[in-house]
Amino acid sequence: MIPTLDDLSVDGTTIGVRVDVNSPLADDGSLADDARILAHVDTLSELLSRGGRVAILAHQGRPGGSSFSGLSPHADRLDELLDFPVSYCDGNFSKEARDAIGALENGEAVLLENTRFYSEEYMEFDPEVAGQTALVDRLVPVLDAYVNDAFAAAHRSQPSLVGFPTRLPAYAGRVMEREIDVLGDIESAPTPRVYAVGGAKVNDSIDVAESVLERGLADTVLTTGVVGNVFLIAKGVELGKASSEFILDEGYWDEVDRAGRLLDAYGDKIILPRDVAVERNGERAEIPIADLPAAPDEPALDIGSRTVDLYGDIMANAGTVILNGPAGVFEMEQFAVGTKGLYNAATKAKNSIVGGGDTAAALRRLGIEGFTHVSTGGGAALKMLTGESLPAIEVLRT
Ligand code: ADP
Ligand code: MG
Repeated sequence: MIPTLDDLSVDGTTIGVRVDVNSPLADDGSLADDARILAHVDTLSELLSRGGRVAILAHQGRPGGSSFSGLSPHADRLDELLDFPVSYCDGNFSKEARDAIGALENGEAVLLENTRFYSEEYMEFDPEVAGQTALVDRLVPVLDAYVNDAFAAAHRSQPSLVGFPTRLPAYAGRVMEREIDVLGDIESAPTPRVYAVGGAKVNDSIDVAESVLERGLADTVLTTGVVGNVFLIAKGVELGKASSEFILDEGYWDEVDRAGRLLDAYGDKIILPRDVAVERNGERAEIPIADLPAAPDEPALDIGSRTVDLYGDIMANAGTVILNGPAGVFEMEQFAVGTKGLYNAATKAKNSIVGGGDTAAALRRLGIEGFTHVSTGGGAALKMLTGESLPAIEVLRT
């Protein structure tokens, strides 16, 4: 069983809460998007309104990366969003940080500095070892309980994610709880189950397809994006030089063989695009599969409208639709058509689940709403879908 906030008596206690507010930043270092921050408002508001004193732990970017920075903009945004004061502390387990936590009153929060400013936090450990790291060891004495709401980071076995539950009573926050309810229990989601796999991380998407087909979870797998192109090539379709070279350059040529093996084993369940949209002089041009290959300089950047119609019909009859990955290069208006059509059709299904980093960005950019569940996780959501256990979730189990 995984304890939730329902099992925690909050009033007057000091609670360490791990969230995932890792956000895209603008050139001036301000937040370019606050979706991840918004996601945690419920958990934080609930703890604060129940009289908690909340020390928030989070990371931003990765060492050496362009978005590796401090969390003061995140604290400002949280302070605006919550009806409770959120201050910022320029340290994560220093005396300054521990003093700031000790000074909290009921209904007050402090956001501590980027956990990854501290080197052990960017390593993976067994929970017991993580529980002895400096970050955990120094914060434990000033905390009464630990809440993990950082589902999107739950596939990492880092100190702030797996260490505290070895030392303190630990609970899933509301985001974590809901993700576990939905993604951890796909086998009881209504059938027929249709998985739509797309995007550009071909190996991850084929992992998901393989796993859900092998485990009998998928009745149908729809393929889009670069993943769809790989399946088309595996089927013997000549897409054209530009698309093949893209797959080769991205290092995904081996995935063509894997896609071929999946087609051999589960050919009746895997549906391939009926047409693609290529880039021709900067414009969108749709080509039926029978009329391929495209000209050598015309990459297939989207699924075509016949494919959107076909996939829409299949999803309309689904009990559950699970989507990951954009159907095309949605960042370009003329190649967002497939993603927009496909995702809008998916929202018509009785039960629709969607997840992925770029996928979530596509939803916002294209203004698509109405999914039953939008996962906050990218890598974590994919791991859940392949049935793998996530270390930060396992360590919460009692
Ligand atoms: P997610 O982050 O949601 O898991 P991915 O990272 O796998 O999704 O894929 C997102 C990227 O896939 C987008 O940037 C999009 O431009 C790209 N993409 C989708 N279809 C194509 C295509 N046909 N050719 C090139 N890139 C594509
Ligand atoms: Mg991505």
